[in-house]
Amino acid sequence: MLRLRGIAHQFEQPLVGTITRHTGNTGPTHFLVQEAGITCPVTDTYGAVLTEAPALPAAWTGPGLTHLLNSEQLAEGDVVSLAPSGQLIRQYRADSAQNFLLATERCNSNCLMCSQPPKDRDDTGYLLQLYRQVIPLIPNSCPELGITGGEPTLLGDGFWELLQLCKQHLPTTELHCLTNGRSFAWREFTQRLGELSMPQLMLGIPLYADHAPLHDYVVQAKGAFDQTVRGLHELAAIGQRVEIRVVVHRLTVPRLGKLARFIYRNFPFVEHITFMGLENTGYTPHNRDKLWLDPVDYVPELTDAVEFLAAHQLHVSIYNHQLCLLPDQLWQFARRSISDWKNVYLPSCEGCGVKELCGGFFASCGTLHSRGIQALAAMPSLIN
Ligand code: SF4
Repeated sequence: MLRLRGIAHQFEQPLVGTITRHTGNTGPTHFLVQEAGITCPVTDTYGAVLTEAPALPAAWTGPGLTHLLNSEQLAEGDVVSLAPSGQLIRQYRADSAQNFLLATERCNSNCLMCSQPPKDRDDTGYLLQLYRQVIPLIPNSCPELGITGGEPTLLGDGFWELLQLCKQHLPTTELHCLTNGRSFAWREFTQRLGELSMPQLMLGIPLYADHAPLHDYVVQAKGAFDQTVRGLHELAAIGQRVEIRVVVHRLTVPRLGKLARFIYRNFPFVEHITFMGLENTGYTPHNRDKLWLDPVDYVPELTDAVEFLAAHQLHVSIYNHQLCLLPDQLWQFARRSISDWKNVYLPSCEGCGVKELCGGFFASCGTLHSRGIQALAAMPSLIN
């Protein structure tokens, strides 16, 4: 999430608006960016004027930011918030298909490999207030929007309001909400979701084992497995679209095949199952010894799990894994899943014949990557 800093003028409450560089785009929700050295007169009405210069245009007496460095990173149509402290945060990136709303940083689980460790502070009021302004500014042509956390359902009534706002302003946008699924164990809660009737909503729910104590250990929450399993069945009862997400690491690998069979037997209604590689950020670096297993060492378990589910007509994908680590028969399941703003390649990828197809690495991987990374000369025959 892009954060810039400037010096705030003429406002004491946070502001939200859409970036424009066209002086004709006036209105209270347009923030006009004046490039350094450009001195076009600003006499019309905008929500704010943003400039790298040390002073706002002489004719402008409304809110604004001066001394705003790197404003060239802001694109036409980006939705940003401005704080009286001078901080600008990009809430929606117009030229990306991978936008998300962080619903809350609170969570009732505490997963060993959480990439966004929870914070125990009540941020719901502030964030809801923000999204009441942000969501109506997102173009309704937006193809896809994530809702993430923390655990979004902890917003309580705010969760319903957030979904309602999306339904109202973004009726055709595919919504992908990451939740641990535990709140859906309560039938009244799940039925309320059913009453909202949002076919564009997919819930991404993690399940790390077919064995309750192991799942509970990975998520560091006793009873979580029972609640998630019950939640999945309550969601099936209302016809909710669900994706099961499995992070593959040293703790989950030994039972990966059993988990695949457990999913097939108990949750054949799920729309998608993803096996995801570790992201070396958040808690993972602190739990590296517990979690890290070189992917080349778990290829047999991953192959068994993926092929079992695919053979039983379930839609299965592999996320965050590099093609040179996967056997040819798994390539058809590998997706370029890492968000563009945190996606990198290693120097050893230079000249690789399949780089265009490969999802690469998280920027956070640092030196934590497989010993098996090697540039490939050409595509295996099954990829046309
Ligand atoms: S060498 Fe790099 S680009 Fe090529 S398959 Fe491996 S990770 Fe992907």
